[in-house]
Amino acid sequence: MLSVVPRAVVVRVPAKINLHLGVGDLRADGYHDLLTVFHAVSLTDVVRLAPAEELTVSVRGDGAAGVPADASNLAAQAAVVLARRAGIEPAVHIEIEKGIPVAGGMAGGSADAAAALLGLTRLWRLDVERSELMSIAAELGSDVPFSLQGGTAVGHGRGERLTPALSRGELHWVIAASREGLSTPAVYRELDRLHAERGSGPAELEPPDALLSALAAGDPERVAAAMRNDLQPAAISLRPALRRTLRAGIDAGALTGIVSGSGPTCVFICSDASHAIGVAAELSGAGVASAVRTASGPVAGARVDND
Ligand code: ATP
Repeated sequence: MLSVVPRAVVVRVPAKINLHLGVGDLRADGYHDLLTVFHAVSLTDVVRLAPAEELTVSVRGDGAAGVPADASNLAAQAAVVLARRAGIEPAVHIEIEKGIPVAGGMAGGSADAAAALLGLTRLWRLDVERSELMSIAAELGSDVPFSLQGGTAVGHGRGERLTPALSRGELHWVIAASREGLSTPAVYRELDRLHAERGSGPAELEPPDALLSALAAGDPERVAAAMRNDLQPAAISLRPALRRTLRAGIDAGALTGIVSGSGPTCVFICSDASHAIGVAAELSGAGVASAVRTASGPVAGARVDND
């Protein structure tokens, strides 16, 4: 029987937010120890993978101009690593449609790397166990395993070691993106600088028990009360205007707001979908963000769309 080689594989992959981001000591390898709770939300990138003469990348959509369309693109790096493991050439065209804010603290690049890994195992018909795919993902970047897995999960280490977290029902979010991104390494450096200036060290990495029990109960008010981001002071120190964005979301009626990961995207939790629509409308009018969207979570990780 003739086997049908797929002409292209399309993968949809979500953004992440950190409901909790505890930052511990700086390790010898230059990374900080993290204890985080990831949550995948319904802002997505779509990545199309098609056979080509050689590895090429094209990017369109929101913020595409800030994304490299060459071998440094994280999706291209994923293709190279996977092809090397399989002993083949990475002969693929990668077409990325960005819906996830670029350099926004929502793991957009990691999402595209995860999408490429998943889609290329399909396109190249590779027999790769899920656990092996997760370990290749962890080599590519700390957030890549979660982009594959999705849902809500506790991340340890650099954030790459995951344990799924129980969560009931849907949470509703308003996402406020900024025109100009923030560099993740620069935000960590600023955190270290703030600690040195204040003569304080990082806080102990405490398990986020109150948050995990609020998620299990599906109670947005308790989730709001338990959200925490240790990178937020550093992101605000580099971008003081974020204070105004956070204030505007709370004034618009959100339960609370937090900087997402290393920022500058701010995320606001609401009690239900219609509350989120109202907060988003008011926040749009406040003129403190370049784009305001509603989203819900948890959603699944990277998924092939054209099965
Ligand atoms: P994180 O939350 O994982 O720290 P981020 O969401 O802040 O990341 P990204 O959107 O992943 O940031 O982009 C960070 C930088 O990575 C961009 O400025 C861009 O130059 C580079 N980059 C490489 N590949 C991609 C990609 N596929 N999508 C977005 N950015 C990419």
